[in-house]
Amino acid sequence: MANKYISIRNLKFMLHEVLDLSKVNSLPKFQDYDAEAYDMALDTVKDLSDTYLFPILREMDKKKAYYDETSGTVKVHPGLQKAIKALGAGGWIGTYATYEQGGQQMPNVLLNSARVIMHAANANAAAYTLLTDGASNLIRSFGSTALNEKYVPKMMAGEWQGTMALTEPQAGSSLSDVTTTATLMEDGSYKIKGQKIYISGGDYETTENIIHLTLARIEGAPAGTKGISLFVVPKYREEEGSFVSNDVTTAGLYGKMGQRGYVAAHLMMGEQDDCKGYLVGQEHRGLRYMFQMMNEARIGTGAMASGTASAAYYASLQYANERPQGRHPSNKDATQPQVLIIEHADVRRMLLFQKSISEGGIALVQLCAYYSDIAENATGEAKEDAHLLLELLTPVVKSYPSEWGNLAVSAGMQVLGGAGYTDDFPLEQYYRDIRINAIYEGTTTIHGMDILGRKIMAQNGRALKLLLEEMKSTIDGAAKNAALQTYAGKLGNAAKSLHETSMHLVQLAMKDRPEVFLSDATLYLEMFGIVTVSWLWLKQALAAQTAIDNKATGEEHLFYQGKVHTMKYYFEYELPKIQPLIERLKSTEKLTLDIESAYIN
Ligand SMILES: Cc1cc2nc3c(=O)[nH]c(=O)nc-3n(C[C@H](O)[C@H](O)[C@H](O)COP(=O)(O)OP(=O)(O)OC[C@H]3O[C@@H](n4cnc5c(N)ncnc54)[C@H](O)[C@@H]3O)c2cc1C
Repeated sequence: MANKYISIRNLKFMLHEVLDLSKVNSLPKFQDYDAEAYDMALDTVKDLSDTYLFPILREMDKKKAYYDETSGTVKVHPGLQKAIKALGAGGWIGTYATYEQGGQQMPNVLLNSARVIMHAANANAAAYTLLTDGASNLIRSFGSTALNEKYVPKMMAGEWQGTMALTEPQAGSSLSDVTTTATLMEDGSYKIKGQKIYISGGDYETTENIIHLTLARIEGAPAGTKGISLFVVPKYREEEGSFVSNDVTTAGLYGKMGQRGYVAAHLMMGEQDDCKGYLVGQEHRGLRYMFQMMNEARIGTGAMASGTASAAYYASLQYANERPQGRHPSNKDATQPQVLIIEHADVRRMLLFQKSISEGGIALVQLCAYYSDIAENATGEAKEDAHLLLELLTPVVKSYPSEWGNLAVSAGMQVLGGAGYTDDFPLEQYYRDIRINAIYEGTTTIHGMDILGRKIMAQNGRALKLLLEEMKSTIDGAAKNAALQTYAGKLGNAAKSLHETSMHLVQLAMKDRPEVFLSDATLYLEMFGIVTVSWLWLKQALAAQTAIDNKATGEEHLFYQGKVHTMKYYFEYELPKIQPLIERLKSTEKLTLDIESAYIN
């Protein structure tokens, strides 16, 4: 099995040569972080991933998590808890928290770069810590001192698992329909009753406790999102110094297509009328709080998909460098040795496609995490602008690596031919594993409606204006370099098209029903993603071309050439895909709305 799954050089390139990290490192919270600290953190997490995560990737899939009827417990791979504890002990849960809170005060841009490594090594295992990280951050941000003291340290140590318990049978995409109830008790806690489905990390026997950050409705609360509150609902609650069952039971695990080592549980809360929940923050503000965890998890999902796409890329690259098959079209002589498949133009196309998607996705993840550091820790205009850009790009960072990652991994499987379809190689697992990313944390459709229906309209389109200004600054830089002028022009045209199409749709929103305006929101998000990633490729190519012009040599020269060439691939093969999308988005034909359901039944 291939053992390269990520390029640390690539992560460092984005951090040190593409993004302006001085804007993050100059913030008081992050003053201990210099270039050396960034590199050390990435190297450390790579070592941890090599030791604890990557070696159990295939086994976690082959010996999947299961519910043991006899003992009534959920069995997972024995290496999982070791990995979680090692990451907890290494400070990789609650890492963003301040030193006083027990964290590392680590910038999100570094933390998410590290997450890409962990996910590339083994998303099945790393995802457990991502959840605990988000859940502990949520208690820290909005919970009382008592909740903080009781739960957060154990979660940060990797001893207790955290979850996000939102989804119910009738409330998936539509969280306003959550019906789990919470009734105030005399002791100030709430009696919780309801069921939660698909809860990741929701139950397994090797963790001491599981802390469900649960959305529920207090009796008498208003309907819709304004009546949802957030509760800490532990699997075991403490009573008079000992831990007792809190009446959260597992009805079963879902048999999943991929990520089979990563539990998704169907939970029953309060079947025996004995499930206690502890309110986080104020009542009825639960969904608003939960957005903190959801937004972190959306960057996290982008990191997961990009990481899996990266691992698939390196596995297929290795194969392409070892597999001899066929000859060049100009050589029909069967007595001549076969060439390695990496020599074939079409195999190179598939490899370039994978590289452009995985590294484009990683760049997007790093950029959004970078904006989040500024949005949360800077002041004044810088803070406000970064906040707007982050809000605008959150649907993109969630969806682009997920949707295109599916296609990239599929291309990776194709590179291996028949071998790719067998379980002798990890491609078949990556193909199954990555598929979920476009579904959980909000389906791509939901993010399409978010960007088109809310984000680009916010503050009279100021976020989009800011993004276009960022693009323009890269275009201006690239236009001054003879090697990049053509591509600067192409991005200029694409940015103009993005603006025009957005304005067209905004006007449509004023004239027609929301159904019309939003019917192709997913396609709008797709176009938005391609243009954004084109920008990030030009930004990378500008840094790489500058290094080439400054006479980079040896391996470094090859690395930079690879960047420039992949940018050219992206502009030649991928960017043109926005044309049919624009045509569709501007069309007056509303086929999906006008059709009778009966026609497709
Ligand atoms: C493996 C796995 C792990 C998960 N982990 C968690 C977890 O840890 N915690 C948690 O709370 N949830 C979790 N989920 C739930 C996940 O977030 C939901 O499955 C997802 O949000 C979609 O909800 P749904 O499955 O009910 O699909 P639905 O909401 O029924 O959607 C079905 C289809 O209809 C479309 N659709 C829905 N509403 C609209 C609309 N208004 N307009 C247009 N199209 C629409 C959707 O895009 C989708 O294509 C997990 C799910 C899975 C499969």
